[in-house]
Order: sequence, then structure tokens, then C-alpha cells
Amino acid sequence: MEQVIGKLYVVATPIGNLADISPRALDVLRQVDLIAAEDTRHSARLMAEYSIKTPLKAYHDHNEEYQSGILVEKLLGGQNIALISDAGTPLINDPGYRLLSAVHDADIKVIPIPGANAAISLLSVSGLAVNSFTFEGFPPVKSQQRKDYYAKWLKSPHAHVFYESSHRIVDSLNDALSVLGADRMVAMGREITKTFETIKRCTLDELYEFVIGDNNQQKGEFVIVIGRAEVDESEADGEIREMLEKVLPIVSVKQASQVVASLTGQKKNKIYQIALEMQKD
Ligand code: SAM
Repeated sequence: MEQVIGKLYVVATPIGNLADISPRALDVLRQVDLIAAEDTRHSARLMAEYSIKTPLKAYHDHNEEYQSGILVEKLLGGQNIALISDAGTPLINDPGYRLLSAVHDADIKVIPIPGANAAISLLSVSGLAVNSFTFEGFPPVKSQQRKDYYAKWLKSPHAHVFYESSHRIVDSLNDALSVLGADRMVAMGREITKTFETIKRCTLDELYEFVIGDNNQQKGEFVIVIGRAEVDESEADGEIREMLEKVLPIVSVKQASQVVASLTGQKKNKIYQIALEMQKD
């Protein structure tokens, strides 16, 4: 008889407010044979809140490799397993990569159970243009490296979202300010879904002043969005024309517009119109 293989559920848990968990996530956590948790003591609170009795097993950065092998064996042996982290969505700056990689290699079914995530929560309320963004994890801890990290976004057409620790939030914002300038639009989410939640959208210098002006705003958990760079239309059009001049002799107007749109972050339709005009000239 063919052996039935288990499934791995990757389950998002709350980022503060324990009510932010879906009925489906709770069903899965109750029904699986085992929950692989980043910190079993931390997750015990969530388990107690919802009377979940499923056994927990520690799976974290320091035992990922070893535990992945054990968990894959259990899955192959027919057990269903849920992976959770301390907060939010597993693998988003949390352990799980090795396990997921091994599980895919072994052709074991994986099922995402979506839910809370600090970066997406802030992006959704930031009031910034976030149709195109990059998620950057945590910035480097050393100031010069951090400045280099921010400098990459000076002219970026995308929003950039990252996490920052309370120990470094002031220095980190100061570095961002020195590199990206006072007027860059940003958003900060502090203690999202918790009692002292702060959501702030303003310029970078206003945010820095706000944070250094109030010790309470330096405590807790932080996520920051740096808005896309404001484009100077005439400068941007000049850049588009320069690129089109190079690619139009080689590819079609449509292809040229696609390439230049992805390089500049500008709208394809606008570039298409400029390309058509240039062909008439
Ligand atoms: N997996 C998590 C998620 O889905 O958001 C992120 C894990 S990462 C190790 C933890 C960092 O996320 C914190 O240091 C903080 O920067 C950010 N974070 C987590 N919860 C947050 C919250 N409630 N408010 C603001 N930032 C939060």
C-alpha cells in the first residue's frame, strides 16, 4: 500500500493583537500532529489563548539544519506539521528557509495559511505609492554600511520597507536623513496592532524630529517605509528619451517601452507615447 505523506502548513500568527488570527489558522494548529515553533515558550501564550493542545517543537536559527531533516522524516512518515514563528508570517525575516527548501526537494505538499505581517500592515496604511516596493529586512547595524544601504534608494522609483530595532531607530533615521534628504516622504509603524500603536506619515526630517522629541516613540517594534523618489518630470523625460534612443534601433516600440519602463519605474503608456513621437521626428 502506498504511504500517505503529510503536509506542511506555513501559518501566520498575530504581530501583537492575539485576535489577528484566522479561523482557518486555528483549525490547522489544532488539527496538525506537530507545530514547529521558533520559540515554544513564546508561542505557548497563543496556544493557551485558543486552547490549542498540539505538541510544539522548537525550530529556530540555531537548529534549523538538524531539525529540518527530522521534520521532513516525520512528514514523509505521514504526520501533518504547522510551521509558525514568534510573530507574523514565517520566513519573512524569520526561520524556515531550510525546512521549506528541504520539503520542496522531497515533493511534500506545502500550504500557506496567510495572515499578519508587519511590513504589509504598514504598507497598506502608509498613504505612499506602494504598488511597487522592495522588502529589505533589517538595515546593517554599522552607520557607514547603513548609509550605503540607504544610498541605493536615492533615486529609486520604488518604495522600500524595512524593519528596525528600538536600539537603533534614532541613529538609523539620522543616517537615512543624511543620505536621502529632509523632504523624502516616509511612513513609520510602531507597535502595530498593540496598545501604543503609532502610524505616522510625513517627511524624513519630520519623522526624525518626532522620534527624538518623544522617548516613548523610541520604544517597541518598528517598521519603516521610505517612499519612492519624487521624479522631476523634465529630468525623467530626458532620461527616458536617452534610453529610447539606444534601444529603439534594436527592438520594437512595444518592447522598447517595456524595457525602459522596467528600468525607470515610469508608466509604460507614457514611454510608449514618447517612443511614438520620437519615431515621427
Ligand atoms: N515575520 C514577522 C512579520 O511577518 O512581520 C517579522 C519578524 S522580524 C524577526 C521582527 C521585526 O518585525 C521586529 O523587530 C519589528 O521590526 C517588526 N515587527 C514585528 N511586529 C511588529 C509590530 N507589531 N509593529 C511594528 N513592527 C513589527
